[in-house]
Amino acid sequence: MTRLSESVQDYLKAIFELHQTTPRVTTNALATRLGVSAASVTGMVRRLAELGLVEYAPYQGVVLTGSGRRAALEVIRHHRLIELYLTQALGYSWDEVHAEAERLEHAVSRSFAERIAQLLGDPKVDPHGDPIPSREGEMPRVSQRTLVEVPSGTALSVQRVRDEDAEVLRRLAALRLFPNTRFVVKAVDQERGKRVLCLGDGVEIEVEDKLAQHVFVQEETIASSPSSPR
Ligand SMILES: [Zn+2]
Repeated sequence: MTRLSESVQDYLKAIFELHQTTPRVTTNALATRLGVSAASVTGMVRRLAELGLVEYAPYQGVVLTGSGRRAALEVIRHHRLIELYLTQALGYSWDEVHAEAERLEHAVSRSFAERIAQLLGDPKVDPHGDPIPSREGEMPRVSQRTLVEVPSGTALSVQRVRDEDAEVLRRLAALRLFPNTRFVVKAVDQERGKRVLCLGDGVEIEVEDKLAQHVFVQEETIASSPSSPR
């Protein structure tokens, strides 16, 4: 495929991400996501359709074609490999890497990204718990359930966290809410918009709903105690 411009790649990535929760992406949702006007989205979406990357009909939303999806997954693969490389090889912390990867994902070649993958032993997840698409463009489905949606008494672990907001990541790190952290929801305080979690080592932490929205969780089986090794 000919090299796609940075903004084309950003559009494909945004459409792919919105596809996770809806089969047809509206131009309004895209405009909000990318922080641009609805008119410029419509113009770009027409261009993407001409390039064979999306299917688009007015009022029916946007759907990625096979080649649009492959191109999106390649950018996402670059992004996540770069984030992992920055933390593992260059000593960046997890709240510093997203902004760097947003820039570098467009600049690196496919072979550069593959060298990173080789160096890191073909990793499957990035520092935020997001799966890294395979070279062939396959990626497992992820949990869309956030910590604010679960009732008290549930044994869970963190699957992944949203990576866009550095301040959010710093606050999550201070609470030790990293991917694979196991915990039980002890109490939900609707009025104050907070919940109390008991971590695997018995430490209790308080998490505001605003922060909990950034944490995607998966359920743990009852049989495994939170302190047992993985
Ligand atoms: Zn990122």
